[in-house]
Amino acid sequence: MELEQFKEIGLRFKPDMVILMYFINDAEPIPTYPRESWLDLHSAAWIVLNYRIDSLIRTFGPRPDWKHYYRNLYDDNATGWQQTQKAIAGFAETSRSMGAKLVVFHLPELRELKPYPFHDVTAKVKKVVEANGLRFVDLLPTVEGMDPASLWVTVPDPHPNGKADTAFTDGMLRELTPMLDELCRTGEPGVYAIGDLTGPPWLAHKASHEGVLCVEAIAGMHVHPMDILNIPGCTYCRPQVASVGLTEAAAKQKGHEVKVGRFPFIGNGKAIAMGEPEGMIKTVFDARTGELLGAHMAGPEVTEMIQGYTIAKTMETTEAELMETVFPHPTISEAMHESVLDAYGRVIHI
Ligand SMILES: Cc1cc2nc3c(=O)[nH]c(=O)nc-3n(C[C@H](O)[C@H](O)[C@H](O)COP(=O)(O)OP(=O)(O)OC[C@H]3O[C@@H](n4cnc5c(N)ncnc54)[C@H](O)[C@@H]3O)c2cc1C
Repeated sequence: MELEQFKEIGLRFKPDMVILMYFINDAEPIPTYPRESWLDLHSAAWIVLNYRIDSLIRTFGPRPDWKHYYRNLYDDNATGWQQTQKAIAGFAETSRSMGAKLVVFHLPELRELKPYPFHDVTAKVKKVVEANGLRFVDLLPTVEGMDPASLWVTVPDPHPNGKADTAFTDGMLRELTPMLDELCRTGEPGVYAIGDLTGPPWLAHKASHEGVLCVEAIAGMHVHPMDILNIPGCTYCRPQVASVGLTEAAAKQKGHEVKVGRFPFIGNGKAIAMGEPEGMIKTVFDARTGELLGAHMAGPEVTEMIQGYTIAKTMETTEAELMETVFPHPTISEAMHESVLDAYGRVIHI
């Protein structure tokens, strides 16, 4: 439901950045309100009374108490959770397709904070968010250690009050302010920064690209913030080294389930003919989505070839397009193809 509204209304603003606030009950199934009564629609007193009765039944009666209710929402077969996972993927895809950066902020449930009873649920949501290539920020640390009731609207109503909202907002700004640097803005209005002084990777092409997007942003053009994971790095040693994106270890650390391909240059005719059969190519894919997460090469002319994987990453290519691409023969680039095929058990020349 929210995804449709985002597509219909949110996209009109052409945002550079989209913030998705996630709360534990976002995994509730989409409500249908089949038995709405006049009182449900018109009487706040009736709604409060119903809420109190419901709380009593959940505390002393047959309905699951609030902790079980929330946890049950995250059962792998629960309809709401399945809808939620699809919605997160939809938000990710929609934002990416228009070049907007989407960040998911997790709002903690405020009834109990120490110990927080839903770390397992938070971890489950984080995994899905990160598997979609999105940044997940948990706002629990911004209120940890505070008396929960001091953060509620009223004592029986644990929705966030002004104090809680202030803590959440401070936490969000701490996360978001450095991200603005992707458009090369500094803390000083009107002062921009590019290149080595803005942080790694300390590379000439990164500095140059930032210069262009910075000036375009100043000129009011709609620019795509630079994605640090799509900047290739090259080392001009012998054999040459080149890479782009996540390493296998970094991808796993980010929660990706990976498929990894490897192909040594000793299996490539052109590399042998050139007398440079040393080295190999490694490719890392997200096992669930097929997205190319990273590529790492050591061998002949790999600093020239890394651009192929960089274009693929910038276009958010999956293994399917890479496998279907026709590589010319005889070239050392054929090893790039073979590495992708190897990740899916389809390597040919080895
Ligand atoms: C030995 C070496 C090899 C490298 N090899 C590569 C490579 O192969 N590929 C690659 O991508 N990157 C390479 N780099 C990194 C690359 O050079 C930098 O990332 C890139 O130059 C950064 O650009 P920049 O504009 O931020 O800084 P710079 O290019 O350093 O530009 C800063 C400019 O500011 C000037 N300046 C400094 N202080 C003042 C001042 N007070 N007043 C006026 N002007 C000032 C400097 O003279 C300089 O011209 C290499 C770096 C080094 C040192």
